[in-house]
Amino acid sequence: MENCIFCKIVAGEIPASKVYEDDQALAFLDITQVTPGHTLLIPKAHCKNLLDMTAETASHLFSLVPKLAQGLVATTCADGLNLVNNSEEAADQTVFHAHIHLLPRFAQGDGLDIRFVQNAPDFEKMAELASQIRKEIDA
Ligand code: AMP
Ligand code: ZN
Repeated sequence: MENCIFCKIVAGEIPASKVYEDDQALAFLDITQVTPGHTLLIPKAHCKNLLDMTAETASHLFSLVPKLAQGLVATTCADGLNLVNNSEEAADQTVFHAHIHLLPRFAQGDGLDIRFVQNAPDFEKMAELASQIRKEIDA
């Protein structure tokens, strides 16, 4: 897609520090290196994010995650790893070519703080919501 920075990386028009490539997917170091080894895994064919990704594309992309995660952790001697996907502006997506962040984590403090707010559970609401989601997914 024209004017897409990740399509340009796929086409070799701008450089990237590639760590993995096959006919459908590419992984390269994120330019900001939030933690050492911070990597982006992308489908080569342009799609915007997870919300418009086909199951076929996702199936190949996500199948690569364990190998990449294990390779990144081994190379950087990390203590763990986070997988992050930002889909749409509301979720902090800034590059609108689908990508998965793989973020090696370091127990000694790596400056990254991903924390979930601990809301008290409302089981009635959760049951209703789960039922609505099941209906939507089955539709
Ligand atoms: P997101 O906020 O999830 O859309 O993340 C986009 C990511 O792309 C950011 O972490 C950027 O640092 C990264 N990024 C943008 N341009 C490049 C580039 N040319 N090479 C590598 N990473 C990039
Ligand atoms: Zn693109």
